[in-house]
Order: sequence, then C-alpha cells, then structure tokens
Amino acid sequence: MQSRAEESLPECVATALAGVRALTPYLPGKPLTELEREYGIVDAVKLASNENPLGPSPAAVSAAQATLTDLGRYPDGFGFELKEALSARLGVAIESLTLGNGSNDSLELIARIFLQPGVEAIYSEYAFLVYPMVIQAIGATARVARALPADHPQQPYGHDLTAMAALVNERTGVVFIANPNNPTGTWLGRDELLAFLEQLPPRVICVLDEAYFEYLDQPDYPNGLEWLTRFPNLIVARTFSKAYGLAALRVGFVVSHPAIADLLNRARQPFNVNSSALAAATAALTDRDHLARSVALNNQGLKQLSEGLRALGLAVIPSVANFVTVDLGREAAPIYDALLRRGVITRPIAGYGLPNHLRISVGLAEENRRLLSELEALIA
Ligand SMILES: *Cc1c(COP(=O)(O)O)cnc(C)c1O
Repeated sequence: MQSRAEESLPECVATALAGVRALTPYLPGKPLTELEREYGIVDAVKLASNENPLGPSPAAVSAAQATLTDLGRYPDGFGFELKEALSARLGVAIESLTLGNGSNDSLELIARIFLQPGVEAIYSEYAFLVYPMVIQAIGATARVARALPADHPQQPYGHDLTAMAALVNERTGVVFIANPNNPTGTWLGRDELLAFLEQLPPRVICVLDEAYFEYLDQPDYPNGLEWLTRFPNLIVARTFSKAYGLAALRVGFVVSHPAIADLLNRARQPFNVNSSALAAATAALTDRDHLARSVALNNQGLKQLSEGLRALGLAVIPSVANFVTVDLGREAAPIYDALLRRGVITRPIAGYGLPNHLRISVGLAEENRRLLSELEALIA
C-alpha cells in the first residue's frame, strides 16, 4: 500500500534500505550564519554544538593554511604523520589506529562492519543520537537500555551498565557506550566500566566513545586505551572536534586491536581525512598550552553555567564535559525560540526524549553570562 507522498516518488526509491528510508535526519545546532540570515541578528552567540570557544591552536591554523598551496594533490591516505604523532602521544601502536572524517565517520564504519539485519546493537536511553542512526541505517536491531532515573544522586539520566548488560544475548554485535555521554554529560567510573567489560562476551564489540576525554580530570575517570590489550573486542573513539577545537575540519580516530584496525582501514574510504585536517590535527597535538587553556576555561565556564542555572532555580544534570543540560521544568522549545530571538543559540534535545531540557555548551565567560541573563529574563 502506497501513501500519497510515495505515489509521486521514483519507483527506485522504494528499493532503498528500509532503515534508511525511515531515518530521521540528525538535527545539528543552528549555524550562526543561519540565525543572522533569518533574524538579522549580528552579535549572536552559539552555545549549541559543544565547540571549543577558543577555537583551535594557532599552530593548527597555520599548519592547515600551509596545505592550501597543494590542494591539487590527494591527501596521504595512510595519514602517516598524524598516526605517528598520535602513536607517540597516546602510547599505542600505529597499527591500532584508524583515522576518520570526524569520529562519527568511524562510528558509522564500525556499524557497517559489525552489524547487519538480524544482529542487535545496544545503547542507553539518552545516548548520543549517532548510535541509533548508524544502527538503523544498516538495518540492524537497536536494543535500548533504560537510563538511570532522573532523581539518581550522581548520574541522573546516565548510562545504567546493569541494564545494558541485561540486554546482551547471542544476537548482540555491538555495544555503544559514551563516556561521558552527550547530551547528559554524565560519566562512568573505572570500576563499573571494567566490570562491564569483564562480563561482556569476547565476541561482542564494545565501542567506548571518549569524545570529551581531554576535558576530564576526575581521578576515577578511566582511560579506555589502558584496557585495549586486555579486551581485544574494545574500540576507543576520540576526536579533534571538541577540546582541540577542530570541528570544521572533521577529524577523529579510533584505537583498537590491530586486527580490527586492519578491517576498518580496508573498509574505510581511501582518502577519508583531508590534507588540511591531517596537518591541523598533527600540529594541534604539539600545542599542549592551548589544550590546557581550553580545559581550564571549560572548567571555569562549566562552574559558572551550572551555578548560574541553579541560582535560577533550575535542575542541572551534573556534567564533566563542555556542556550542561538543564531541566526547564516546562517545554523547552518555546524558550529555545525566545533565546534565538535574543541572539543565543542553544540546543533543544526533544529528539533524545528530553523535551523539557536544553543543552548549553560552555562558551567564553561573557557568552555564558549573556545566556544566563537572557534566560533569567525569559523565565522570570
Ligand atoms: C561530538 C561527539 C562526537 C564527535 O563527533 P565528530 O564526528 O568527531 O565531530 C562523538 N561522540 C560524541 C558522544 C560526541 O558528543
């Protein structure tokens, strides 16, 4: 039976994978240029996509600029210099590395290699939306573990590893864990994550998404790389989009057992990371001061935003990342719209099942202040 809308579609569209036809597009944060176009606002601030408000290291910018004289050449498809720099910095073998066009590229690649119709993938309620998207697109079955309750003392809405473990069965192919998670900002400690990995069947891939790794200094926050030799089924994902401030260039990587990296590298597109991104990421690794400044600024901003929002009487999910998610106690969409009109872009997360929450990225101190004062005026 065809719906009205489908009648006019070319016949071939119906042959596309059912999961792809049913996909809901990922809703990115509103770009500043779009707000300027639509509302004529010129001094807008964007606190919507967990970007580094300082941007990248100047060393990364000049390295990217230097590549512009040679745009006629294909990039190094192996990414040798970046892999060598990552290998030295992280203490992992070059053979364990797979570069991606952002870590989302690698997440999609993992789904494509380890999932298929009839195979199940597990993730938590309120987990990063890219997981359900890549699972659905490949036609695999999503198993969603209920999250920790809203009134949990440390990790409201956080991943419940017991609930996730309970969903593992003989059909499970991949488990996705974000540590910390986006959009909740909640995180998992060393002992509980290790216990989860220990009980996971070795045939099941565990993707540990550490997109915000560089921001964390909690003594109990685990570095997934330390477990790679013990768990050959573990894949750790990192990115240059967040603390390194290189979101526009799209570069991330995953670290895994070399045999898994070999599969990923054979299946990826041959030139999935461009020359400017490779050069900028390599240079970014050398500028430890810029990274330290970015992390320090984030710590201050996280405190400023969390305390400011609580002072407005709002419940904030305790976050260790570069954003906070706040419960407005009412539908968030109208507040999001009103903030837009006042030139502040935040992120509504109804698509995650949290219609009363807004996710707010940490900005510069004055940007955080602006958000707090505009929000105060709106909810007064
Ligand atoms: C931002 C983010 C990523 C990284 O995305 P890129 O494709 O590297 O820009 C991955 N996982 C989570 C949970 C994120 O929030």
